[in-house]
Amino acid sequence: MEDITNIPPLGKRRECKAIVQATKYQCSQDHPMNTRLKQLSSGRLKRSSFTLETRALQRKHQEALPKYIEPIVFTMNNTPCEEKLGNVTIQTSVPLITTKDEQTSNVKKTLTMSMLEEQYPSETWVRVYTDESAINATTNGGAVWGNEQPDRLAKYGAEQQQEENPVCFTEMKTIIKSLFNTPQQQDSYHQLTRSEQTTIFRLRTGHNRLNQHLHKVMKVVPSPMCPCGEAEQDTAHLLQSCNLHQALRDKIWHSVTSLEEKLYGPVDSLQKTTRFVEETGIQV
Ligand SMILES: [Zn+2]
Repeated sequence: MEDITNIPPLGKRRECKAIVQATKYQCSQDHPMNTRLKQLSSGRLKRSSFTLETRALQRKHQEALPKYIEPIVFTMNNTPCEEKLGNVTIQTSVPLITTKDEQTSNVKKTLTMSMLEEQYPSETWVRVYTDESAINATTNGGAVWGNEQPDRLAKYGAEQQQEENPVCFTEMKTIIKSLFNTPQQQDSYHQLTRSEQTTIFRLRTGHNRLNQHLHKVMKVVPSPMCPCGEAEQDTAHLLQSCNLHQALRDKIWHSVTSLEEKLYGPVDSLQKTTRFVEETGIQV
């Protein structure tokens, strides 16, 4: 089922959640679980306990995980952002710029730049980093700016990776998630439209509205038989052998095609299958 839906297996998702939760406890100094996770294992712990399980997981992934992690600091009623924003003024006019069109845009730009330089010298600016370069920049006293900035930052990034710097919980969480989230192969199924996917999914799993399933599992129809009366109506019968649809089958597939090909083949094979089902008028 997980292969068909392309969702990471349950076991993997559970391990990922557990290790993230354990990390969160370790960062939260005041949490009761914090001390429990630090204690040595005692014989009283059950094999399946959260502590033991997550400890094993962390050991297993220790190569890939950062060693040090900063504690999470909980601050109550602390909204520095709002306090700072309270003093923000919006400047909408620039001296010497007239509203008439007699100044060229270059003149306007120059006037604006000189006003900015005079009234808001760049040393007083607050810099906002949106590319996570803040960590690198601040550890270097914010001294990287200017034309060589991207190169310098890239160089810093490379250097930083050599060292063991503590990471914050959010970064740790991203690292853990990426460890567990190995991209799965995108098969042809995922290139289909949503409704084509539904059809193929139902045919593959047998959870469909064909009589065999409706009779044996859902118990909502009196017989599992196909209207042709020759066999039970299931995926294989419908796609491969039902005589009621032989003409359509020959029209869509010009030669004998295996069930495997029809359900798991390349995109065009799957699309032939969905077209066939659609043209039979049978609701799967
Ligand atoms: Zn039939």
